[in-house]
Amino acid sequence: MRVIFIGPPGAGKGTQAQRLVELYGLAHLSTGDMLRAARDAKTEIGLKADEYMSSGALVPDELIVTIIVERLGQPDCRNGYLLDGFPRTIAQAQALDEMLADKGTPLDAALELKVPEEELFRRLAERGRADDSPEVIRQRLDAYRKQTKPLLDYYNQQKLFVSIDGLGTEDEIFDRAKAVLDKLL
Ligand code: AMP
Repeated sequence: MRVIFIGPPGAGKGTQAQRLVELYGLAHLSTGDMLRAARDAKTEIGLKADEYMSSGALVPDELIVTIIVERLGQPDCRNGYLLDGFPRTIAQAQALDEMLADKGTPLDAALELKVPEEELFRRLAERGRADDSPEVIRQRLDAYRKQTKPLLDYYNQQKLFVSIDGLGTEDEIFDRAKAVLDKLL
């Protein structure tokens, strides 16, 4: 199955994504992880991306699309994948649609992990990483609200959209996601 996983920063998407890919044997494609690895390796793309990441802004679409085109071409993606953190803009979603239409491998679902904003701010502030200063957190939530949320409607129109409640224990949320994805099998 080919699924995209959408959710604001602090929703617990990474943890759930990890468990879901293990359960279904999917490739885990986290653009955040890819960018952090590129940044740590000080590649040209990584250093460029860091200029945006450190302020909480999204990196430019062309840059992230280049990375994902390359990644989707790798053999482990043939058995299905979970896209975690991509697409994050309408332009990225359109680029993905074109890419997948060319390959004849459409998406099966777009799953939203829904968490209210006050709760996100609280969780992100508690996590206290260097990139989680209140200003950066605000910027990241802002980017989600303005640039990523329009995707919910985009995928709803394509009849791919499913939302699950992101409040509760890790296991409760996992069970909700599993109930949705089981139906795709
Ligand atoms: P994440 O770990 O998914 O929250 O990503 C960390 C940071 O990487 C984000 O705040 C963005 O700066 C950047 N990033 C990750 N994925 C994307 C994407 N699809 N489009 C633009 N920027 C991204």
